[in-house]
Amino acid sequence: MTAHSHQFSLLPRHRNTKIVATLGPASGTPEEIETLFRTGADIFRLNFSHGTHDEHRERVAAIRHVESQYGQPIAIIADLQGPKLRIGRFAAGVVGLQAGQALRLDTDPKPGDATRVQLPHPELIQALMPGSEILLDDGRVRLRVTRQGNDHLDTTVVSGLALSDRKGVNVPGVVLPLVALTPKDRADLTAALSFGVDWIALSFVQRPADVIEARQLIGDRAALIVKLEKPQALEHLDALIELSDGVMVARGDLGVELPPEEVPVVQRRIVAAVRQAGKPVIVATQMLESMISAPAPTRAEASDVATAVYEGADAVMLSAETASGAYPVEAVEIMNRIAARIERDPFYRRTMNAEAPVPEANTSDAITAAANQVARTIGAAAITTFTSSGSTTLRASRERPAMPILCLTAIPATARRLMLSYGVRSIVTPDIHSFGQMVEVAARMARSTGIARVGDRLVVTAGVPFGTPGNTNTLRISVVD
Ligand code: PGA
Ligand code: MN
Repeated sequence: MTAHSHQFSLLPRHRNTKIVATLGPASGTPEEIETLFRTGADIFRLNFSHGTHDEHRERVAAIRHVESQYGQPIAIIADLQGPKLRIGRFAAGVVGLQAGQALRLDTDPKPGDATRVQLPHPELIQALMPGSEILLDDGRVRLRVTRQGNDHLDTTVVSGLALSDRKGVNVPGVVLPLVALTPKDRADLTAALSFGVDWIALSFVQRPADVIEARQLIGDRAALIVKLEKPQALEHLDALIELSDGVMVARGDLGVELPPEEVPVVQRRIVAAVRQAGKPVIVATQMLESMISAPAPTRAEASDVATAVYEGADAVMLSAETASGAYPVEAVEIMNRIAARIERDPFYRRTMNAEAPVPEANTSDAITAAANQVARTIGAAAITTFTSSGSTTLRASRERPAMPILCLTAIPATARRLMLSYGVRSIVTPDIHSFGQMVEVAARMARSTGIARVGDRLVVTAGVPFGTPGNTNTLRISVVD
């Protein structure tokens, strides 16, 4: 994909909601990546909790190859593991547990047994008190602290049947003195940036300071996603949205630390707030979980994907379904079908329009809101924006228009990042110098990409004079000829 490529054949996508597919052993080869892309994956996620740097580098190369083959930008997210807490190992690999029994957590790396196991986080031992609850293995095991020692915690097993090596540890409701980026995260970040990923996702963010440090390290080399998976982070929701370029509702870990009935409430609140801020929001985890081992989803899972779409999420995500499941392509296909179907529901369209964000009192927002209104009234085939920073296109995406947003930009990094946003189809074009030229290029691109046919109308917005970012002040209706 270069500024000079003119061979376009954008894959048709009969939906504006985007699909993020996580890559892993079930989807790592160039052929598998191309198939997922053709089936509907718009964004690929590399999970740095798993895999080697070499594997991630090869996947980035394969994605970029697909990109140039199809002349279509693809966004890549590098998801950093973050300060995920884990217990150590057991001599037997696994131990049985019984409610009421004692279990000591200490700092000794010696393999554990049914009476003790390592908790290699002294700061966590310091932060907890008698009465504190500890969840292990995604909440399958629950411990209550009975006594805090210098280098250990004595606990009672409240519930749970077994524990095995390296299971995750969650402590709901406690702000932990954790570093935002572990030494592994720093090494992974350096590697991911050198591969040229577009987005970095930060895990287990607790407070605004966690984001500020990462941002300093990343600079403008990638955009930044804050994963909301700690209840503590929700207390800083507005500040965290402000500091991010995008947000993920990371329901896996969030769902362990919050009661299940809270998760949908929080999801809805986050999606609405991030949309209002004009940044992309991803709803993630367990969306089609049963498809890890079955070729069709449960009805409840189909409803879960539908709910995220009805709420106006920019993107829905697949994790183990595409990374390690038996049916990665089927999972993308089902997600694609659900999103497309929901978007055809008149009720969906009414909701998107009714929940339109409040425009800020400036020319750009006024024109952007008007563009959506005009496009709807005349049944335009697309709204066209021209952007270098991406800001104009993000404002258009915030409106959740019914038609695609054709985003022309001379900057490949901008084109790729914007692929995460609702409705955006990015196209890298040579730089444009006048409004007339833009109208011409927009019509040509809309036609050659199959977004519009001869006789269709386009709503074109731009800042005139050209080249001043963020000053959208002009709206034109043009007919594709
Ligand atoms: P993970 O994050 O897959 O990296 O754990 C997503 C989540 O927790 O939902
Ligand atoms: Mn997580």
